[in-house]
Amino acid sequence: MKHVNHWIGGEIVKGAGRTADLFDPATGEVSGRVSLASAEDVDAAVEAAALAFPAWRDASLTKRTQILFRFRELLDAHRDDLAELITAEHGKVHSDALGEVARGLEVVEFACGIPHLLKGGYSENVSTRVDSYSIRQPLGVVAGITPFNFPAMVPMWMFPVAIACGNTFVLKPSERDPSASLLIAELWRRAGLPDGVFNVVQGDKAAVDRLLEHPAVRAVSFVGSTPIARYVYETGTAHGKRVQALGGAKNHMLVLPDADLDLVADSAVSAGFGSAGERCMAISVVLAVDPIGDELVEKIVSRVRDLQVGPGTDAESQMGPLVTAAHRDKVASYLDLGVEEGAKLVVDGRETPVRGDRGNGFWLGPTVLDHVPPNSRVHREEIFGPVLSIVRVRSYEEGLELINTGEYGNGTAIFTNDGGAARRFQNEVEVGMIGVNVPIPVPMAFYSFGGWKASLFGDTHVHGTEGVHFYTRGKVVTSRWLDPSHGGVNLGFPTNA
Ligand code: NAD
Repeated sequence: MKHVNHWIGGEIVKGAGRTADLFDPATGEVSGRVSLASAEDVDAAVEAAALAFPAWRDASLTKRTQILFRFRELLDAHRDDLAELITAEHGKVHSDALGEVARGLEVVEFACGIPHLLKGGYSENVSTRVDSYSIRQPLGVVAGITPFNFPAMVPMWMFPVAIACGNTFVLKPSERDPSASLLIAELWRRAGLPDGVFNVVQGDKAAVDRLLEHPAVRAVSFVGSTPIARYVYETGTAHGKRVQALGGAKNHMLVLPDADLDLVADSAVSAGFGSAGERCMAISVVLAVDPIGDELVEKIVSRVRDLQVGPGTDAESQMGPLVTAAHRDKVASYLDLGVEEGAKLVVDGRETPVRGDRGNGFWLGPTVLDHVPPNSRVHREEIFGPVLSIVRVRSYEEGLELINTGEYGNGTAIFTNDGGAARRFQNEVEVGMIGVNVPIPVPMAFYSFGGWKASLFGDTHVHGTEGVHFYTRGKVVTSRWLDPSHGGVNLGFPTNA
């Protein structure tokens, strides 16, 4: 049985302490074990990263870029291998796993442009014969703490940019699907990245807490649920670190009566049930503006009934299992809760047939709850599973109000053929990422990803130019080379005379 270990200073390091079981979510069987790092293991990783930092910081931009290009080629060649590891531990279908690798790869490609991204500004003669210029420098050792739902993509939101900027990195992946991180580490090694620049500690809260308090860790990027994001932000900043902590989500799709309802139904089903709803950009609520509700629900339900649920390794499966039994049970509990709260259960995922042998897999099929009351927990809370709620609203204004009074502000979408309505929506909605007739508006790598309100703690979003800013500090140099005309002592405040 496999045992997933740490990667420290360019090699596998066996953990000596606690371990956790790994599962195949499609069968419910234990498939291996993962080490859970102690504070000493974390210290060893941070030490390796600190040791590697001075040389990596001073490596030329050309050298860094060459390694990034090689890493990009290796990742490209190993897409399938990474996707297989993801499907085996997360459960998502192979095509979906390939999709997450592709979106991570795009961030590596963005980071390949680091010489351009790190260019500063230069102003000649800011004062007489005085020049001024700005530079950005890496922070040192930085850490990334990532969730189970994207074991390759979310780490790749962080480390390509951090490393390209000249930092050294310690990744703490989710303990539920840790294997992708070690293949990534091996690819970095083969790309020629110096030992210690990229390290992985497997673990849980104990590892996170040590990273948050370790004095040599300068910045922490976190992605996960909102309570932990808030905790990481508060603890990390209290220890003097720069922190960006991305939290949970509850994403609405606002459908105006003039929308193309077939496009809407396709989009709602794809965005609601892709990856079994375990995406922070999943659509979990459709706000159907009167009078289209009944027609739209009919179109959604007919598509949901055709979805193929089965193991991620089965090429015909469109949706896999949930990640753990506990998570499946938590998600399933919202079905009865929804009915108690007044919703109508129009598709019950507990009854969905599963392709092949369902074994003890963590199955829950696609579920549709209609007439969900706006004040219900089912509408307000993040469920993070294959449960699509339909809330009927009378107007654009009522729908907007429901989105803007929600706790989260990660993603949202409007479906309409009215450009004016779409423009008004993008202007008025309090959400970080917006789709117009696009259900999962995950920004490309050269823009930055992040939500508002309880979906993000901190000031900067991930990747794109905000990522470059997060992983660097600015300096402005004001310089004068001696010339015969310097004016002697002057106690006045420097001005641009
Ligand atoms: P999680 O919060 O349980 O875990 C995230 C990370 O925190 C993991 O590495 C985990 O080991 C660690 N962790 C867990 N409990 C901890 C504790 N008590 N103290 C310190 N660290 C702890 O999240 P998850 O279940 O892995 O992922 C799903 C969540 O992530 C959902 O809420 C989803 O919306 C969110 N998510 C958000 C985004 C985004 O971009 N905003 C992206 C992906 C996932």
